[in-house]
Amino acid sequence: MRQRNKPWADTFLQENKHLVIPEAQQHKGNWNKVFGNNNPIHIEIGTGKGQFLVGMAEQYPNINFIGIELAKSIVVTAAQKIMESPQQNILLLNENAANLREIFADGEIACIYLNFSDPWPKTRHAKRRLTYYSFLEHYEKVLTPDGELVFKTDNQGLFEYSLVSFSHFGLKLKEVNLDLHAVEDPTNVMTEYEEKFSAKGQRIYRCRAHFSQ
Ligand code: SAM
Repeated sequence: MRQRNKPWADTFLQENKHLVIPEAQQHKGNWNKVFGNNNPIHIEIGTGKGQFLVGMAEQYPNINFIGIELAKSIVVTAAQKIMESPQQNILLLNENAANLREIFADGEIACIYLNFSDPWPKTRHAKRRLTYYSFLEHYEKVLTPDGELVFKTDNQGLFEYSLVSFSHFGLKLKEVNLDLHAVEDPTNVMTEYEEKFSAKGQRIYRCRAHFSQ
């Protein structure tokens, strides 16, 4: 995703700590306290500009959503979008998913969404893919025993790689959808990338998986 330099981003983040939570590690195991309720927590990794989070938070007001986004300038854009919506059940973290286990306790998360993750097509960059086994190790720990991993992409190569990666790790596949938009599904919340790629006629793939036996 294109990043524009936003020199005022640090000031914005300072002024909006209620929404983009700094020093996320301090809240490990206590995210329900931050939300002020005991609702299940779902996270989106690589949240981009926040469209999916806002749509999901509207559709599921009794779920708490946390968006994790590495790029500071993009997390600011997501925060601005969330501030325009009345939803109270969304928080953002300007963090790297590689640090997931420092941020969340074991079993703290009910669902993880990976939406249009960067494909990193070169083999030597495979470790950076969010479906590489080292990331799956983190997801397994922070998810509840019946927690779910939901992965959407337009990238056939990344999808195939990820299915193999899930299978090697022992994940159980609940759904493998090779053309998500072939059948209209009003519950599917589209991300920015999903809108862009499906408008170009590209297929959207989705997989839902879980770690338990
Ligand atoms: N999910 C959005 C969508 O579908 O429109 C954005 C997709 S964009 C291709 C991928 C996003 O993931 C970028 O904003 C990037 O900064 C973020 N990202 C990549 N690696 C990450 C990581 N390790 N931790 C957190 N965010 C990451």
